[in-house]
Amino acid sequence: MLIALLPGDGIGPEVIEQAVRVLDAVTGDALSFERGLVGGAAYKAVGHPLPPETLDLARRADAILFGAVGDPDCDALERHLRPEQAILGLRKELGLFANLRPARLFPELADASALRPEVAARIDLVIVRETNGDVYFGEKGMRTTADGLREGYDIMSYNEAEVARIARVGFETARARRGRLCSVDKANVLETSQLWRDVVIEVSRDYPDVTLNHMYVDNAAMQLVRDPGQFDVIVTGNLFGDILSDQASMCAGSIGMLPSATLNSRNQGLYEPIHGSAPDIAGQGKANPLATILSAAMMLRYSLGKAAEADRIEAAVAAALAAGARSPDLGGRISTAEMGDAVLAAL
Ligand code: ATP
Ligand code: MG
Repeated sequence: MLIALLPGDGIGPEVIEQAVRVLDAVTGDALSFERGLVGGAAYKAVGHPLPPETLDLARRADAILFGAVGDPDCDALERHLRPEQAILGLRKELGLFANLRPARLFPELADASALRPEVAARIDLVIVRETNGDVYFGEKGMRTTADGLREGYDIMSYNEAEVARIARVGFETARARRGRLCSVDKANVLETSQLWRDVVIEVSRDYPDVTLNHMYVDNAAMQLVRDPGQFDVIVTGNLFGDILSDQASMCAGSIGMLPSATLNSRNQGLYEPIHGSAPDIAGQGKANPLATILSAAMMLRYSLGKAAEADRIEAAVAAALAAGARSPDLGGRISTAEMGDAVLAAL
């Protein structure tokens, strides 16, 4: 099975390295890895954040393990050359529309959550975020108003087919878990959200066994902190999902703990930590690699049919935490590589 390894920028290569060590340990030589350039690293090497060779590798691969993109050196580039375009391009080109972001608190990390321990202990949810539409992909631009002011704009749009297919992923995910789906929108203000709500209700007729409720995004942000235990699966659009999943991560201890999968209709997937390239700590051995290691476990489970190996990795992460492995984001002092060592030792 071919894995496309796309380490990218900042802490991306550091955390990917640890995930590869763990994958080698649990799968022996069942996986073959091929590396590709992506993000600022690709721009600096070949002048484009998503070179054709990388796109070709991603298409050929059974799954993609992605680090992070984002490089302050590239901030002044035109938008189409910026590192972030690489992940947007991969999602669009491969039709990766369903981003699954589980958030749960390892009991060993109760002290690291931003919430009171008894509240944090109840977090066990999945955010299903749409990643092919919304304001990220609508027409954007800069214009000048009649008064001579610069005005930026980004069009937010969703069509009903786009909403229906992500709604189905939400319902299926809920069906496989505790049977509750919360659809998050801003239907009191946005047309896109009005459509979103209508379509989710239509799709819900095929899932009578799933309990559906709707929530405005501002209320959802508040409820996530007040009582995250009320959620099982949240389905939402691209922008709201981006924000809510970063928020959920702090409830679950650290942004360095949360993995994600982005799937297309062929179940090919791109797996990445929810965090970015963290330029503030890059190259210092301070990054927590567990989000990427847990993303590799999701890859084994969802795209490679290796659920037992995925379980082993998740158990090893829990055991490493129980043994006291703590990178700086978790209040400890050990390095990225030492976090990897701790997981390998537990395996
Ligand atoms: P993106 O736009 O790609 O989501 P971002 O602007 O949200 O990126 P991140 O790169 O995710 O930013 O970093 C946010 C903060 O979290 C930074 O202070 C960073 O150092 C910290 N951080 C991110 N990932 C990790 C990690 N794996 N371990 C420790 N700290 C991290
Ligand atoms: Mg972010």
